[in-house]
Amino acid sequence: MDSRLTAELSSALTCTQSRRMENPTMAMIESETRTLQGTCPDHGHVLAVKEVPKIKFPFLITGPARGLAALRPYRCPECGAKVS
Ligand SMILES: [Zn+2]
Repeated sequence: MDSRLTAELSSALTCTQSRRMENPTMAMIESETRTLQGTCPDHGHVLAVKEVPKIKFPFLITGPARGLAALRPYRCPECGAKVS
């Protein structure tokens, strides 16, 4: 009885985990350096870069973190100025 309950519990846990992995939002949470063709005031056309945090924790944490990263400007790799 006990071992069967344990098996059911672990299978339920596995189910929950795999379902979470299937969530496309969770799957997207990885380390990434985003780049964008932009215009630096000093350097003209540059490939601007932006770091998006790599946090593999609950969405309550990663969601806002990624939201903030999305709002942060891309920056010139030469001087760090915002590009437009
Ligand atoms: Zn620059």
